[in-house]
Amino acid sequence: MAKKEFKAESKRLLEMMINSIYSQKEIFLRELISNSSDAIDKIYYKTLTDDTLTFNKDDYYIRIEADKDNRLLKISDTGIGMTKEELENNLGTIAKSGSLAFKNENELKDGHDIIGQFGVGFYSAFMVADVVTVISKALGSEEAYKWESTGADGYSIEPYEKDTVGTEIILKIKENTEDESYDEYLDEYRLKSIVKKYSDFIRYPIKMEVTGSRPKEGSDNEFEDYKEEQVINSMVPIWRKNKSELTDEDYENFYQEKRYGFDKPLKHIHISVDGTVRYNAILFIPEKTPFDYYTKEFEKGLELYSSGVLIMEKCADLLPDYFSFVKGMVDSEDLSLNISREILQQDKQLKFIAKNIKSKIKRELEGLLKNDREKYEKFYESFGRQLKFGMYSDFGQDKEVLQDLVMFYSSKEKKLVTLDEYVSRMPEDQKYIYYATGETNERIEKLPQTELVADKGYEILYFTDDIDEFAIKMLMTYKEKEFKSVSSGDLGIEEDNQDTTESEEKENKDLFDFMKEVLTGKVKDVKVSKRLKTHPVCLTADGDLSIEMEKVLNAMPN
Ligand code: ADP
Ligand code: MG
Repeated sequence: MAKKEFKAESKRLLEMMINSIYSQKEIFLRELISNSSDAIDKIYYKTLTDDTLTFNKDDYYIRIEADKDNRLLKISDTGIGMTKEELENNLGTIAKSGSLAFKNENELKDGHDIIGQFGVGFYSAFMVADVVTVISKALGSEEAYKWESTGADGYSIEPYEKDTVGTEIILKIKENTEDESYDEYLDEYRLKSIVKKYSDFIRYPIKMEVTGSRPKEGSDNEFEDYKEEQVINSMVPIWRKNKSELTDEDYENFYQEKRYGFDKPLKHIHISVDGTVRYNAILFIPEKTPFDYYTKEFEKGLELYSSGVLIMEKCADLLPDYFSFVKGMVDSEDLSLNISREILQQDKQLKFIAKNIKSKIKRELEGLLKNDREKYEKFYESFGRQLKFGMYSDFGQDKEVLQDLVMFYSSKEKKLVTLDEYVSRMPEDQKYIYYATGETNERIEKLPQTELVADKGYEILYFTDDIDEFAIKMLMTYKEKEFKSVSSGDLGIEEDNQDTTESEEKENKDLFDFMKEVLTGKVKDVKVSKRLKTHPVCLTADGDLSIEMEKVLNAMPN
């Protein structure tokens, strides 16, 4: 049989697969199953438009068979199949969907990245197999063909016997090497778990013969193995189900199954959008801060699926940093399976989805704040800091998203309050939103600087987190009210501004001069003040920064 050459670029990709040191070789199964699923999709669509065909659900499935003795793994489907020409064109050329556009030579040399980020398609089979055989019979065709390749040196095509329409892919699994074992790809449990991991939600049944154990007939304590064909994927993804069919427990199970966290989710968000960009998403707000959350190790992101096939485990572009605590997944039919991280970043659909998700999370949190204060406070305890950080980062470009979600401890309410609640309670003569900074609420309470403001009956927000004042500074105003530190020079309160009489200043000049001398380099000035009620003395700041903020800045490494 005459061997045919692969096209040049296909050959390069193939070589890369054959010599791959990529650690997640298991994804080959995902690729082959997704091709099978696509092939069944194609038949399905045909039946929708062709009256002579009917789609009988039971006739369409994918089957996995492992033959350990001969080291053969077979993936077969009852999909649309391929003609001789199609075998030649589709498998002889690099992934036809074309998004596997190599950026540069470096990327190609370091195959690791490409395999990790692209869906590499059919050729990924060569990561685990020495020989790949494809037997296929196309819909409406009398003949079947066998395509076979041992790798980069080419492939052969010849007529073959096959009764039914569809495709069989047979992999001759590589022998174990010193560094690597390939046996696992013939192991029933391992195969099952790979399917569960990547292809659980494929719409068609994935069947496999599994070994069970049962009591031997007529015996109480003896067991025997038996073989049974099982459907190993759950088929209907929870995110495609109707919200009304699902219970809180279903979502919780999904959260656990997916190992999004070890806590119970505080809230789930189920999104189904059927507009210009179609997507489904299930998102979770965890209850507890993950142990590594406020560290560099923490990686944000959502799982990304394309038509039920997992294409990325942590897609960071789907979440803004300030919502990085959100866990979950997104599935869209409008994304290509073969999509690289770089392409994704510029992908319009993905951007749309990300924007959409952002506003849904925001709305959900606002709802929680309004309707379940207790839960919101729990949430805020875990992740409030991240929201405040979000207000401050990126030059505050998203501060509007966040200003109604942040809370601070109130001198009046003795609990966390929102800015909206604060402003709505402000007496008419109050000009500013007052805040005081300190290490703890108890310490702030004792600050002499808070006296005059509190005496006027004004509420004070207590800032105990380093980030608080920075976040507020970024906001500048809330509902047109400016923020004012109780330790600032001008409090905007009348009593405070009353001019101290010259005589008072004169009377105490010697004392003040003496104090200034003693405190040289520590204070700029010593003045008479009307601000104090019960305390003899207090510090105020002259410029824009509060004393606490100056402390933080001074503590920062330069
Ligand atoms: P992609 O799936 O992105 O097109 P692949 O490399 O995975 O790229 O597959 C190449 C092509 O081979 C597919 O587009 C399809 O036309 C064909 N193909 C692969 N597997 C099958 C199959 N099981 N049944 C029918 N056609 C298939
Ligand atoms: Mg494919």
